[in-house]
This record gives sequence, C-alpha cells and structure tokens, in this order.
Amino acid sequence: MRLPIIAGNWKMNTTVSEAVTLVQEMKATLEQVEGVERVLCPPFVSLSAIKELLQDSPIKLGAQNMYFEEKGAFTGEVSPRMLVDLCEYVILGHSERRQYFREDDNMINKKLKLALKSGLKPILCVGEKLEENEAGKTEDVVSHQVKAALVGIEPLKELVIAYEPIWAIGTGRAASGEQANNTIGFIRRIAAGVLGENIAAAIRIQYGGSVTAANTAEFLSQPEIDGALVGGASLKAAEFVSIVRQTAEIKK
Ligand code: PEP
Repeated sequence: MRLPIIAGNWKMNTTVSEAVTLVQEMKATLEQVEGVERVLCPPFVSLSAIKELLQDSPIKLGAQNMYFEEKGAFTGEVSPRMLVDLCEYVILGHSERRQYFREDDNMINKKLKLALKSGLKPILCVGEKLEENEAGKTEDVVSHQVKAALVGIEPLKELVIAYEPIWAIGTGRAASGEQANNTIGFIRRIAAGVLGENIAAAIRIQYGGSVTAANTAEFLSQPEIDGALVGGASLKAAEFVSIVRQTAEIKK
C-alpha cells in the first residue's frame, strides 16, 4: 500500500503574511484528514514562519527548488543544508524551472543526488510539451527524463515522482484520468528498470496539471495515481482541503 500524497505548489505567490494567513485558513481542517500525506510548498521566504505554525502538526513542508551545491559563492541560491532544518520535501525539475531557468537533466540529476544525500525527500517532476504529446512522443520524453534524473541514485522509496504534462499546467486543460494513469504506469515500469521492481512498486507517483476539487476523483480513482501536485488550486484553502479529503475517501 502506498500512502497517497497531495502537495501544494504555491509557486511565486504569497507574501510571508499572506502565506501565514493561508495556512491558518486550512490548518485545522487539513489536520483532521487521515490516510493522506499533506505537503505545503510555499516560497522559500515563508518556510520558517510556516514551520513555526506547523509545530506538532502532521502537515509537512516542502521547498520548490534548491541548488546542487552545499555552500559557497552562488549568490541568491538556496542549498539543501539550509532547507533540511525547515522542510522535509523539495520539488525538483518542475517544468517552469526547466523552461525559464534552463535546468537540464544533468543539473536535475545533481540536485536529486544532493537532496537525497542531505536528507530531503525529492518530488521529481517530469512531463512532455504539447507538441511532444501531439507527436506521440510522451513515453520517449518521460522515459528519458526519468532515466536521466535517476543516474547514479541509490534505490530509495522516499522518492516521489510527479507526472506533469506541461500543456496541462496552469491551463485548465487537465489530462484525462485514463491518460494520466497509463503514463504513470509507464513511468513506474521505467523506474523499475532503474531502481528495481520492489522500489518502483513502493514509490509514489503523482499527477499534476490543473487538478481541482472538481476533477480530483477522476485522477485519484485511478490505481497507478498516488496523489497530486497541485498548483493554482492549492492557493485556495477550501479547494485544497477538498482535494485532500476526497483523496482520503477514494484511497481508503
Ligand atoms: C504545478 O505547478 O505543479 C501545477 C500542476 O500547477 P496547476 O495545478 O496550476 O496546473
């Protein structure tokens, strides 16, 4: 049995006080839900304040990125050594990082290795562009991204993978549950080739891309889909709580 995991990626939204207010709005209801791992990924600058708020809470925190060196002359970057005291998870290889900040497979591989070595649990994002999807290249693309990210990685079941088709992120045009389930099943088989059958069967693979309270059941009722990485809808307390509650109900 894989514990479902719903993570909210707040992206570059919320000031520190807005972030605190958002957590206060969802904390009590989110804490009541059982059987789902709940992770909030606010901007770096809010991690410390939210960590204070979540003392003794089952709600977990994640960062949205990190650098691939432990320390040094890398102005403006944040290292896993800084994050490990603040949060448990880190999102790596998000398509916005790949697209706007030129993160390539090699860099993502270095980040993944250092995150694991540092004791952070990575949420590795993979997914194809619209034109790749339309050209029938989805499996080639995700297979390449997964294999490249996992080069030299110790098989660890702490790894979470998020399948996020780029054309579905922030567009309101989600994949279908069946499409997402098929690609996630494929990703698990690729992971099995690299990490072994047992680890691949244990790691959680999320779907991400325009997940809302209204379409949660379509994705979470699929057997291969272990959770969701939620962008826009994670900024609305009631909507995020509804996604988590529905997940608990469907996967129990
Ligand atoms: C994301 O940023 O990872 C994401 C899936 O965004 P959205 O839910 O807004 O499509």
